[in-house]
Amino acid sequence: MGTPDGGPSRLTVLAGPTAVGKGTVSADVRERYPQVWLSVSATTRPPRPGEVDGVHYHFVDEARFDEMAAAGDLLEWAVVHGRHRYGTPRGPVEGALAQGRAALLEIDLQGARQVRRSMPQARFVFLAPPSWEELVRRLVGRGTEDAAERERRLATARTELAAEEEFDVTVVNADVRQAGDDLVSSMGLTPRGASSA
Ligand code: 5GP
Repeated sequence: MGTPDGGPSRLTVLAGPTAVGKGTVSADVRERYPQVWLSVSATTRPPRPGEVDGVHYHFVDEARFDEMAAAGDLLEWAVVHGRHRYGTPRGPVEGALAQGRAALLEIDLQGARQVRRSMPQARFVFLAPPSWEELVRRLVGRGTEDAAERERRLATARTELAAEEEFDVTVVNADVRQAGDDLVSSMGLTPRGASSA
């Protein structure tokens, strides 16, 4: 019942460099576009204040993550920022696609490359910053990392930006709502309010 030739029920993968705002844009889409089915990843990272198990992530321990990976229950998984593991549970994605839903994964570049290999028919959307300077501003703006960590993240971001050419579509995140509208429109859905500002 899907539309494998490019309609809304195709899988869409959203990725992009660190600090570009993937989480913010996908949270905005989840809120404003209930017709989009957003995958809930499994992670070994502990929850942050306000994060709800099963809503923001499935928070699991290392043993459970090992089990899921070994059983083939993850469509992709990766160690992100050299620390915790994150992965996409396979069953719910397949279920959503079988129901003809417009399914969205918000994952890192390593994960996007894995999905590219296993599901080349998916749509790959790169979320880009408006400029390198703005990405640097977002990365260092929080002031929570020391200089060495900042340098490490900037170096990572620079190589991640070069990945844009691997993607089918680029959405620029200058404004979160506009980026959300552009994303859903790249998914074949009608954006709401894009022209009503
Ligand atoms: P955070 O810990 O800030 O929620 O997320 C850190 C990073 O993990 C983000 O870049 C996000 O895109 C990535 N991420 C979240 N879920 C997944 C997933 O299921 N697979 C992969 N590969 N990366 C993920």
